[in-house]
Amino acid sequence: MEAAIIYDNSACKKNIRYGWGFSCLVGRRVLFDTGESSESLFYNMDQLNVDISKIEAVVISHDHWDHTGGLWGLLKKREGLPVYSCPGFGPSFIKRVRQSGGRPFEAERYQRIDDNISVTGEVRGKYRGGVISEQALIVETGGKITVIVGCSHPGIVTIVERVKTIFPGVEISLVFGGFHLKDEDPQSVRAIVSSMKELGVEKVAPAHCTGEEAKRIFREGYGENFVSVQAGEVFEI
Ligand SMILES: [Zn+2]
Ligand SMILES: [Zn+2]
Repeated sequence: MEAAIIYDNSACKKNIRYGWGFSCLVGRRVLFDTGESSESLFYNMDQLNVDISKIEAVVISHDHWDHTGGLWGLLKKREGLPVYSCPGFGPSFIKRVRQSGGRPFEAERYQRIDDNISVTGEVRGKYRGGVISEQALIVETGGKITVIVGCSHPGIVTIVERVKTIFPGVEISLVFGGFHLKDEDPQSVRAIVSSMKELGVEKVAPAHCTGEEAKRIFREGYGENFVSVQAGEVFEI
């Protein structure tokens, strides 16, 4: 299955826009997060020859502007598009999706949204003194799974542990997206790398809000199984 990084904090080509945010398109039909603005989203989709009319669903990892920013403009173009969120986003999110022309679906628990694509359901964590709800995308290919994360505010290890309870015994070939470790000390990041290995995560591709130092530690720990991803990259998962 094809994965295309539509938006990220860095880009792999000159003709691709980048900035604070994340967006990834899976199988040319399920969009996971929408970056910071619809303008950048559409621009990069155009550069990557993405047919917006073929998108069948949008999954929003969590209710932060750098993941929801492009959604509202997209819904103007694609009225009736299903939008998967979590109950913890609150009623105002659902209301805005409806008002923008989208069809909201709340995934409290694990839910399949396409043949080989599903969402973890709500994973809760602490963020800036409050509680945050986040979900990740699970893609099944060749008997293994790939996990795509937005910001991992509840913790990347917590999210992967959730995936393991949903798919016990299934190998996780790749975890990619924002790991949100930019303010974490190196020792804690090393412990996270060890936990990911213990959980059997074969390859990692930290992006977006992971932080440069944390990325370096992941690269060190994972060696050739560290995968570099940036906006504009299209690869098979
Ligand atoms: Zn983010
Ligand atoms: Zn966030």
